[in-house]
Amino acid sequence: MLIDTHCHLDFEQFDADRQDVINRAKEKGIGYIINVAADLSGAVASLKLAAEYDFIFAAAGIHPHYALKTGEDELKRLRVLTDNEKVVALGEVGLDYYNHESREYSIERKIKLKQQELLCAFIEIAKVKELPIIFHCREAHEDLLAILKDNLKNRVKAVVHCFSGTKEFLKDCLDSGLKVSFTANITYKKADGLRALVYYVPLEEMFLETDAPFLTPQAKRGKRNEPSYTRYVAQEVARIKNVDEEKVADITTSNARLFFNI
Ligand SMILES: [Zn+2]
Ligand SMILES: [Zn+2]
Repeated sequence: MLIDTHCHLDFEQFDADRQDVINRAKEKGIGYIINVAADLSGAVASLKLAAEYDFIFAAAGIHPHYALKTGEDELKRLRVLTDNEKVVALGEVGLDYYNHESREYSIERKIKLKQQELLCAFIEIAKVKELPIIFHCREAHEDLLAILKDNLKNRVKAVVHCFSGTKEFLKDCLDSGLKVSFTANITYKKADGLRALVYYVPLEEMFLETDAPFLTPQAKRGKRNEPSYTRYVAQEVARIKNVDEEKVADITTSNARLFFNI
């Protein structure tokens, strides 16, 4: 059994055939799916899916892209949603310094600060609600680690999803007690750097995810990604580590069940 610990089935890319996608995941041995919200309405939609399907759980959060638009009111409403028993994490939350307009890794300082402020607010919610956190971190590694050092102190469980970055960042994450999760971008031809990171991370510290509809595995390139493709991530991890796929599935699944308490 596999768990897709991070996907976005509420996104419009699944509007035409959402039910088929979910059924296919079940048929292909995906035991649980965690549908991760990118904003408040995504959190509501994730909970709706979780209410419809017993093997789907929800993460409630606001993506750092929406930091500037997020005020006290949104945070308050999100906090209320986390009381639902099918919310198993806060996410996705974090820092993302990619500028979609200029297509560069540079955003204004005031946006960075707003993202950091929002992240700290989510860490506080996580502590009170005793929920793990799913971090999204893009080109903001040092700032994420600095915030974690100040706020986390092993009182909150967290995973850095769609892991990428240097080996030093990875080492710092593992040393800080964070888990990491990998997507199917580890199957890409140019991903030797990522594969080296996969090799380095002990299976016990790792989860699998698709981040569907994004990051379709190499074998299905050109198509939309979906939770049933989690097995391509498992296959690639097994190949990189030279272990049985079964072993990868067993260990990463039990890691995720323990972490998300499902
Ligand atoms: Zn993300
Ligand atoms: Zn995501």
